[in-house]
Amino acid sequence: MEFTEELSHQRKSDQDRAAILANPGFGDFFTDHTAVIDWTASEDGVTGTWDNARIEPYGPISLDPAASVLHYGQEIFEGLKAYRHADGTVWTFRPYANAARLNRSAERLALPQLDEDAFVESLRRLVKADVQWVPSGEGEALYLRPFMIATEAFLGVRAAREVSYRVIASPAGNYFGGELKPVGIWVSHNYARAGRGGTGAAKCGGNYAASLVAQLEAEQNGCKQVLFLDPFNDEAVEELGGMNVFFVMKGGKLVTPRLTGTILEGVTRSSIIQLAKDRGMDVEERTIALGEWREGIANGDIEEVFACGTAAVITPIGVLKNGEEHIGDPEAPAGEVTMALRTELLGIQTGVVADRHGWLERLA
Ligand SMILES: *Cc1c(COP(=O)(O)O)cnc(C)c1O
Repeated sequence: MEFTEELSHQRKSDQDRAAILANPGFGDFFTDHTAVIDWTASEDGVTGTWDNARIEPYGPISLDPAASVLHYGQEIFEGLKAYRHADGTVWTFRPYANAARLNRSAERLALPQLDEDAFVESLRRLVKADVQWVPSGEGEALYLRPFMIATEAFLGVRAAREVSYRVIASPAGNYFGGELKPVGIWVSHNYARAGRGGTGAAKCGGNYAASLVAQLEAEQNGCKQVLFLDPFNDEAVEELGGMNVFFVMKGGKLVTPRLTGTILEGVTRSSIIQLAKDRGMDVEERTIALGEWREGIANGDIEEVFACGTAAVITPIGVLKNGEEHIGDPEAPAGEVTMALRTELLGIQTGVVADRHGWLERLA
């Protein structure tokens, strides 16, 4: 797909950008440009064409107040990072996996399919335009946020016939801030994020909207994240609001909840499964109930627990708060296997460990 380019006349100054990059946080600041591709349905309302691919200055979007995304939430998104390697080149990690997942989400939300190469090209063009925004500090990256929204002005309930795909970018430091401390997790019993036949396996804004009240409950209980369970399946562990969960068992086996349709298939999750197998570890994707977590911590069968996702990479889980009950130790240091996998994954992403699987894609 051919992109046109309109560069911003209002780029941030070198000083402003340097001040932001000195302390980027997560998701607070945005680069100077955005990538956009528009889709319009043909007569049948189902097939359609993507066109007007462009890089334009970052800024507010003009939307009709009746745009269906504002009323019915027809929206999906992706998240991946661009890493600056020591030689100054910029790379991203498994973007075709994100492209494929965007299309799976699109199918579930009745949004159009986007060519995988057009997806990767949109990232490349945006990162080239904003390459000075890719940080080079340890643990830092440029977070890329592709998303697709229904822009058609129409209040009837059906799949929109006008859609926009966009990418914005935001410099990112360490997601949970500072050193790698174990996070406390709150078990949600009052809320679920997904149900059978629902949108749990799609990366859509609606899932996040549904998780916010549980996240508030977690914060009120001194936890950073929520754990969602499947209340209809023996309290099976599903995932956090935006991260998958792994258990390191005594003897070195790795266990993670199997994909049941209510769990989002993380690219980080798939990569960890592969890296663990490469190390000769057994990996089981299976049901793991809350009770097994409790007993495993008590009797030592579970040695380490961690969460993973693009934003936070791999983060050790300290305590699991289940109402008044506390499972695990809030001060538990990050486990050996957790740290080894984290170091290897980050090493591949940042170009200091060999990319055996061809996961890296050069952007600039
Ligand atoms: C994005 C996301 C993840 C993590 O996926 P990655 O591809 O590893 O970043 C996990 N769970 C949910 C609900 C998500 O939205």
